[in-house]
Amino acid sequence: TEAWGPDDDKPRRFAGPVKVRVPSKINLHLGVGPLRADGFHELNTVYHAISLFDELTARRGDTLALTMEGEGAGELALDDSNLIMRAARALAAKARVPAHARLHLRKSIPLAGGLAGGSADAAATLLACDLLWGTGYSKDELAEIGAELGSDVPFLLHGGTALGTGHGETVSPILARPTTWHWVVAIADGGLSTPEVYRELDRLRDSAWPPTALESADELMGALRQRKPEVLGAALANDLQPAALSLRPALADVLKAGYDAGAVAGIVSGSGPTCVFLATDGPHAERVAARLNEAGVCRTALTARGPMPGARVT
Ligand code: ATP
Repeated sequence: TEAWGPDDDKPRRFAGPVKVRVPSKINLHLGVGPLRADGFHELNTVYHAISLFDELTARRGDTLALTMEGEGAGELALDDSNLIMRAARALAAKARVPAHARLHLRKSIPLAGGLAGGSADAAATLLACDLLWGTGYSKDELAEIGAELGSDVPFLLHGGTALGTGHGETVSPILARPTTWHWVVAIADGGLSTPEVYRELDRLRDSAWPPTALESADELMGALRQRKPEVLGAALANDLQPAALSLRPALADVLKAGYDAGAVAGIVSGSGPTCVFLATDGPHAERVAARLNEAGVCRTALTARGPMPGARVT
């Protein structure tokens, strides 16, 4: 499995610190089916891992402890509610080993930003602790444990560009000729709660007849194969966008500012409030980011590339 390197065997157990880097995700297509009786929405989504990373370090310890720095420090709870702690405990329980590790998170992915930062951290923890404890699970086995913690965890172990179905936890890689896409990521002040955005979508759809059907990702997948930014830009789609805009109307100004700055296309990332813009190449992305920063419509605009690999030891 590629996470361990081209042809080497998976290392059995690390004595020293294990450092794992994990990307964030955007959704190039996010089709949301109608609310089902079981309270869930079925998804058809195209995940894309981008170069905005969190980093998790795992060291030997006598108990399970978590510290952090960076985005959300002082705000994010570090107790058993944190997805990192839950991931470590889930792996330890499955493998019947003591959940002993000192974990440190360097966070760059904003909290509640629609970039799946929590799921990314859970994916990083599963990989790091698997190596620290020598539990020896495959990527697919870790993904199965991870799916219980968050729908995006399996994708963040695999990375790349992939189709997500079910609640997003069933992932199949999209095989395409390698192309690097250039993005501008507009990070907002404050987050949006994913469950609230889904509730708003249900409310907006409530009066619609006939009920909204689950949209396939075929158009987006065809556009990816053409490898042209303007074709991909025209195919970007997010069913959650109207709900995110309804809860945070100022996001319309961010999207407009991105187009005014010359972006090929722009979209709300997942449940928002982060907006992502497609650029034609790296220098173009830098120019769009600089103009967005001048416009003052977001906390900060960064450039990123995709697709990136999933959680990996550095
Ligand atoms: P998604 O796109 O998967 O819905 P998101 O990017 O909008 O997620 P996250 O930052 O992943 O949002 O997580 C949302 C909430 O999950 C946070 O506000 C926090 O309460 C909780 N959480 C638990 N553990 C973590 C973690 N390690 N990092 C971030 N959030 C966490």
